[in-house]
Amino acid sequence: MTDQFPDGRSTKWGTLRGPLGVVQSRDDALKADQADPLAQYRDSFVIDEEGPLYLNGNSLGRQPRAVKEALTALLGEWADDLVSAWERWAELPAEVGDKVGMILGAAPGQVVAGDSTTVNLYKLAVAALDARPGRDEIVSDANDFPTVRYVLQGIASQLGRRLLTVESDPAEGLVVEDLAGVIGEKTALVCLSGVNYRSGSALDIGAVNELVQRAAALALFDLSHAAGVLPLQLDRWGADLAVGCGYKYLNGGPGAPAWLYVRKDLQQNLRQPIWGWWGQRDQFAMGPSYDAQAGMGRFLTGTPDVMGLTSLASGVAPLLAAGMSPVWAKTQQLIALLAARVEEALGPLGAKLASPSEPTRRAGHLAVSHPDARQATQLLAERRLVMVDFREPDVMRLAPAALYTRYVDVWDSIGHIASVFANLAVRKGRGHTR
Ligand SMILES: *Cc1c(COP(=O)(O)O)cnc(C)c1O
Repeated sequence: MTDQFPDGRSTKWGTLRGPLGVVQSRDDALKADQADPLAQYRDSFVIDEEGPLYLNGNSLGRQPRAVKEALTALLGEWADDLVSAWERWAELPAEVGDKVGMILGAAPGQVVAGDSTTVNLYKLAVAALDARPGRDEIVSDANDFPTVRYVLQGIASQLGRRLLTVESDPAEGLVVEDLAGVIGEKTALVCLSGVNYRSGSALDIGAVNELVQRAAALALFDLSHAAGVLPLQLDRWGADLAVGCGYKYLNGGPGAPAWLYVRKDLQQNLRQPIWGWWGQRDQFAMGPSYDAQAGMGRFLTGTPDVMGLTSLASGVAPLLAAGMSPVWAKTQQLIALLAARVEEALGPLGAKLASPSEPTRRAGHLAVSHPDARQATQLLAERRLVMVDFREPDVMRLAPAALYTRYVDVWDSIGHIASVFANLAVRKGRGHTR
C-alpha cells in the first residue's frame, strides 16, 4: 500500500490524504482518474459503459467479473462431486468469514459468514443479554436502520427487557456524548450501527466500545454500511460483537450471506439462541442433545448457502487485493468532491446536505434533501442517467464505491441531478427555487 498523497491530515480513521479541492472542473476529474492508484480495479466489475452511472453501491454492489467463473465452477462441483463436495463446502462459512475479517481488521477465527444480517443481529443480541444476567437494559439509536430497531423491540418484548432509544441529530448522527448518560450498571447491551444508513454519519466505534466495556456491558455493532468503506480495526479497538451485510460494499450479490464477528475471548461464554445442527460439536454423531461447538462454529445454525458464499468470496476479493487503506483514501476524495459539488451545483436549486457538517464524521455516502428528491430519483433512472436511491420523505442517497466509481462519474452524476432538479422546478412553475 503506497502512500500516494503525502499531504495528509489526521482524522480518527487515520489520515485524510489527497489533493482535496483540486478537482474543480470535469478535466480535473479526468486527471484525477488518470492518477488514481485504484483505477485498475474498475475492470474487476461488470460495467455497461453505455448504461446509467451508479451511485448505489451501498444498496447493491456491482457484479464482480470473477463471480461468473466461480459460480460455474461450483455448478461443476455440484454436478460431478455431488454430496462428496460437502467436505469442502462445509469450510466456506469460516473461510469466507476470515476473508471478511481482513476487511474488518479482525484476525482469523472471529468471523463466520452466513444467514442474514437480521438473523445474525438476533443471534448476537440474545447471546449478549444471556451473558449479562441481572442487567435488563438495551441501548439503541432511535434513527437506526429499521431491522436493528425492530429486532431489538422484538427481543425486549420477548425477553422482558427495557429498550432505551437515544435520540440523535438525523444528519449529524450519534456521538459518544449522546450515550454517556444512558449507559450504566443496568445496561446489558448497546447495539448501534457503525455508519448510519441514511445520513452516512460514522460512529466512533472504538470510543463507544470502550465506554460500553467500562460499564461492563456488551457492544454489538451493525457494520452493514461501514464494512468495505472504513478502515475498520476491530482487533485494535477490542470490539465485542459485530454483524453486517454481504451484498452492499462487499459486492456479494443480491441476498448474499451476511457475516458475524465475535471477539476471540468472548466466544466460549456466548450462547446464541438458535440451536441448529451446524452449531453442534459433533454434528454427524446426531446425538440426543445440543452441545455447542468451541469457537465460531457455535454461531452457525443450519446448512450454509454455498452459492451465496461462493459469490461473496468473489465480491470481497477485489477489496482484499486493493487494501482498505487506499479504498478509504479514495472514498474520502470522492465524498469530498461529491459534497463540494452538492453545495455548488445543487445548493442553488434548493438541495441541502443531510449528512454530517464535519467531513471527518462522514463515511462512504452522502444524503441530500430536496422536495423533489423522489421524482428526481425516478426520472434519473427512467432516463438512464444515474441510479441513486431515495429515502422517505425527501432524501436522495449518493454512494460512490472506490473500486469502481470514477471522479468523473461523480462530476457527471451531479450534473445530471442538477438538470433534473432544474427541469422539475420549471415544470412546476417555480423557476429556480431557493
Ligand atoms: C442493509 C442493512 C441491513 C439489512 O439486513 P438484512 O437482514 O440483510 O435484510 C441490516 N442492517 C443495516 C444497518 C443495514 O444497512
